[in-house]
Amino acid sequence: MARWSFGVPAMIVLGSCTTPLAASQVQPAARPQRQPPPTATVVVPPRRAPDRTAFSYAGSMIQGGVVIGIAPSSTSLLSFNGMTIPVAPDGRFVIAFDRDAGPVASIVATLEDGRQVRDTLTVAPRQWDISRLNTLPKFPVPQPEFERLRPAELAQINAARRLVTDAAGWRQPFLWPTTGRISTLFGSQRIYKNGEAGSYHSGLDVAVPQGTPVLAPADGVVILAADHPFTLEGNLLMIDHGMGLNSAFLHLSRIAVHVGEHVQRGETIGFSGMTGRATGPHLHWSMKWREAKIDPLLVAGPMPRTE
Ligand SMILES: [Zn+2]
Repeated sequence: MARWSFGVPAMIVLGSCTTPLAASQVQPAARPQRQPPPTATVVVPPRRAPDRTAFSYAGSMIQGGVVIGIAPSSTSLLSFNGMTIPVAPDGRFVIAFDRDAGPVASIVATLEDGRQVRDTLTVAPRQWDISRLNTLPKFPVPQPEFERLRPAELAQINAARRLVTDAAGWRQPFLWPTTGRISTLFGSQRIYKNGEAGSYHSGLDVAVPQGTPVLAPADGVVILAADHPFTLEGNLLMIDHGMGLNSAFLHLSRIAVHVGEHVQRGETIGFSGMTGRATGPHLHWSMKWREAKIDPLLVAGPMPRTE
């Protein structure tokens, strides 16, 4: 799905030395041995990147996928599905497609001279792992404790997601925070009695023993390090990777970093566990770009082979 093109390079052709010699360049005949070869003054234009007239993209144009794009030269405003999104000084930007996005998305660059460059992106659909539990009601037990605690937890999570940091991890290839058996895929969903759909799995679960180190998948800034277990997420750690892209790590037994800290790709940021709503020790890794829930598997690529 990657489609990189950087426009047509401007061909700079330097002429050969055919300009007549200026009078000052004519040397006296008395010192012929020191006469330098005749030269002409050639003005070399300053080096600059060729103009980009179109968008280029690398990544997965698929539900749950993330794409790094390069905007046309002199883009002053970039809009994706009607939202204004930031562009880095080198023209790069991030867009992503929610689990239920599609079938198309639109992107518009407004150039400094007012012209617009538009693109329509086709978002490939996916098949999700849907299990039907036709006899089980959706919420079997009322949960007053959950209802009491949840609003404050959600407020804390949403406030963290609104933080804008100088993180530049979005430019890096992401690594797996831990490796092991993938026990639940992103996007999988249960349908309960009377066809009531449960919320889909917003991340990816890797079954690992309690206390397994969790590594930062890319550089980032810690935006939330829950100091008490949340009802669902347990000990929750969130890392901003910049450009609206962030990771959340759930059910940790211990968090090893603090809010505001810069973390580096590959650094240990916490340890796996089963705090919050979890039936066994595992790492739940979820990623979001703005409001779009994205699939970590598409970001980190195939899991490296484990022993
Ligand atoms: Zn999970």
